[in-house]
Amino acid sequence: MIRRRQTIMAIQEKNYWLETVSIPAGQSSRLPEKVDVAVVGSGVTGLSAALTLAKRGLNVTVLEAETLGWGASSRNGGMVLTGMKLPTTTLIARYGREKVQRMYAASVASIDCVEQIVQQEAIDCNFSRCGHLEVACKQAHFDGYAESAATIAREFNHPLRIVPKSELRAEIGSDIYYGGLVDEVSAGLNPARYVAGLASAAQRAGAQLFDHTRAEDIRSESHNGTRQFRVRTSKGSLLAREVILASGAYTTTVTPALRRKIIPIGSYIIATEVLREELARELSPKNRMIYDSKHFLYYYRLTPDRRMLFGGRAAFFPETENTVRQSAEILRRGMVSVYPQLRDTRVEFVWGGTLDFAFDVMPHTGRIDGMYYSVGYAGHGVAIGTYLGTRIAGRICGDAESSPFDAISFPTPPIGLRSGHTWALPLAGVYYKFLDWVS
Ligand SMILES: Cc1cc2nc3c(=O)[nH]c(=O)nc-3n(C[C@H](O)[C@H](O)[C@H](O)COP(=O)(O)OP(=O)(O)OC[C@H]3O[C@@H](n4cnc5c(N)ncnc54)[C@H](O)[C@@H]3O)c2cc1C
Repeated sequence: MIRRRQTIMAIQEKNYWLETVSIPAGQSSRLPEKVDVAVVGSGVTGLSAALTLAKRGLNVTVLEAETLGWGASSRNGGMVLTGMKLPTTTLIARYGREKVQRMYAASVASIDCVEQIVQQEAIDCNFSRCGHLEVACKQAHFDGYAESAATIAREFNHPLRIVPKSELRAEIGSDIYYGGLVDEVSAGLNPARYVAGLASAAQRAGAQLFDHTRAEDIRSESHNGTRQFRVRTSKGSLLAREVILASGAYTTTVTPALRRKIIPIGSYIIATEVLREELARELSPKNRMIYDSKHFLYYYRLTPDRRMLFGGRAAFFPETENTVRQSAEILRRGMVSVYPQLRDTRVEFVWGGTLDFAFDVMPHTGRIDGMYYSVGYAGHGVAIGTYLGTRIAGRICGDAESSPFDAISFPTPPIGLRSGHTWALPLAGVYYKFLDWVS
């Protein structure tokens, strides 16, 4: 009991990543009266779009209700991952082989896209192609890896490596799993440094970024026969030829049609004290981005300064002070079940954020009420969000090629699962726990 109290005593309820960077300030000038493009939200989606648009000569303004990068983009696990959430066979049955091949290729290209931006803009965010490791929580999950790797090799020409239980110690210092699957193409980074770097790059390119500026009303108006958007904000109003909604899980009733499409799901992370070098190497010898095979999954990694960062969906509603606090102990127990070596290790930080899920667990881009949007990354948004932001910008600049996620059918969730604190979200959590138990 005393030991447990010690391990969580010094905990700070704040995002560890934000301790490693200073987030750039927004514009102090007045809002411009007229712009080519107004972007709502300054995460990876909005900022990669703004950077691309500004570099291509458009006059672009980003509106952020809080500080720059405040949403999921500065709070996540920093895993830059290939692939999509759903199994390949499900995807092919739903969209057809050719479309899914383009989707998978986009998921791989999205990592190149992040790498290219990091290099071109000299963003100091510890980007590293360290690969990811999925670990099997059940024998049946491991048995499925062979088929899944064969399908991905055949359909997408993308190699994955199966790691049997007998060789797993070369990948992870834990004995609880039945084997693993490695993808060497995935990468890791420090998300707060990445989003701060994107903001600075967009500013250098000429985009105007306004923090503490909430979009409060957006409506289409006709001006001399052309349609434009009047965007009213907490700091005045502007007229925009195009609007990009990059508000992710934090989308509000200002854009009700988009908000209805998004299921917000809380995810939480703890970070330990700095670990001894040998211990860190034992826990993750290849410094992989790791997640397990459950629906209600754990994801974890070492930070560049050798803390264990351990995350999971401890609750199924947007984060509040209480859910963050409760999550610290739930996650610590989860971490110790994976790594008994960390039983006496102090947890120093806990924080939460909100994931944006679509009802069909797919990313979606397109237009809604005349505005561009890109949402639904389901916990895989660092790479694909960056990529889709640049693609929307390309569309606005007149590029012909669309993204494979553009205008695919975008189902609206049943009423109880829509944004907001409803009875149905905790039930969804129970449902996923049930799936983990039976499958
Ligand atoms: C705890 C956690 C861990 C995660 N781990 C990973 C991971 O390891 N790898 C991965 O790939 N993905 C991960 N994700 C998901 C990933 O972080 C997101 O998919 C991605 O950051 C979404 O980016 P975005 O730009 O679309 O939205 P966000 O970064 O959420 O930005 C949206 C912004 O819009 C602003 N906004 C909303 N409404 C308005 C308005 N009316 N006016 C002005 N501003 C507004 C918000 O303030 C917010 O800052 C994780 C997410 C969380 C929460």
